[in-house]
Amino acid sequence: MLEEELKSEGKCMFCEQLFSPKEIKKHLVKHLADMEKTDAAGKTQTYCHIEVVAAEMFLHLLVKGNKKMEIIDDFLRGIWLDCCDHMSGFRHKNIEIEMDEKVKDIFVPKVKIFHDYDYGSTTRVFLTGLKYYDLNLKDDIILLSRNEPLKIMCSICKIKPAVNICSVCLWDRDSVFCESCSKKHEKICNDFDEYSSMPIVNSPRMGICGYTGGYIDTERDGVYKKT
Ligand SMILES: [Zn+2]
Ligand SMILES: [Zn+2]
Ligand SMILES: [Zn+2]
Ligand SMILES: [Zn+2]
Repeated sequence: MLEEELKSEGKCMFCEQLFSPKEIKKHLVKHLADMEKTDAAGKTQTYCHIEVVAAEMFLHLLVKGNKKMEIIDDFLRGIWLDCCDHMSGFRHKNIEIEMDEKVKDIFVPKVKIFHDYDYGSTTRVFLTGLKYYDLNLKDDIILLSRNEPLKIMCSICKIKPAVNICSVCLWDRDSVFCESCSKKHEKICNDFDEYSSMPIVNSPRMGICGYTGGYIDTERDGVYKKT
């Protein structure tokens, strides 16, 4: 379903410009380094710049280093994952990371870990520590960038953005539909009408279990909008 041409782009929270995943990573460094210079005169705390990736989707987070790992778990649940409060956990290689460990002790620059949500139908996302910054900020966690809704078009008409996914036919490529093609799918898929019609959302958990969208950054959690 996630096809070749799916191109992800994210806006910079500071200047609102759109960038590719590679560019945004470099671009944010400029803002953060500038902020660090400006803040150097005041009282600062260590923050970790963290990249989170799930296939074409990504998040850039700035997290206060002395907070516990559970702050990131909560954030991931809120923006991408939570359907019915499944269990979750972070791992580095095969070692479990406790939720009460400090963010800065885990996200040493270049370290890669992963997070699993739901040990049945698992959604796995990958996190990389990019750099530490000493900043004077109020927030404990800030969303610096996120991919805009991917260009997922209806698998039948190919003209309109898809709004529904069939969670039963999910493994088939032709399983995302616009409003009118959703009606056609209802006729050939008995489950679709009953329970398997799920909304297209901007999350790697789309179409899985009861996931219908997040509660953080909801304006970017919808379907693709033609520009
Ligand atoms: Zn910017
Ligand atoms: Zn669930
Ligand atoms: Zn259609
Ligand atoms: Zn179906």
